[in-house]
Amino acid sequence: MDEFMQAAIAQAQKSRLEGGIPIGSVLVKSDKIIGQGHNKRVQDGDPMTHAEIDCLRNAGRIGNYKGTILYSTLMPCYLCAGAVVQFGIKKVVAGESANFPGAREFMESHDVEVIDLDLDECKQMMDEFIQNNPLLWNEDIGE
Ligand SMILES: [Zn+2]
Repeated sequence: MDEFMQAAIAQAQKSRLEGGIPIGSVLVKSDKIIGQGHNKRVQDGDPMTHAEIDCLRNAGRIGNYKGTILYSTLMPCYLCAGAVVQFGIKKVVAGESANFPGAREFMESHDVEVIDLDLDECKQMMDEFIQNNPLLWNEDIGE
């Protein structure tokens, strides 16, 4: 598997072990990981700390986002897609979108290339979490 998606999955698993939602993300530039993070909504009691936001925060101020690629184990939601469009990140790689369709069309309508790897590993991890924690998940997606 793609080493960067593997790193995003490791972040998701870390969140799960912490009692949080298993979504992980990494930011890549010039074939190097320059930031990584995971959903910390449960851990921090912060509804804004989605995996992609945590990842972008951890990358810090990088000047501009030219040539960066954002990886996420799950298709980014509108909040995170908004950050992608705002910062000019032009490529997003998602582990899956079967459990959550996210904001793919929104990103594509802003010239972001979106790739969905449709990975069983990501689908199973999310599906198992949603089955066991439906209320937590519904809170995450605003339902
Ligand atoms: Zn999000």
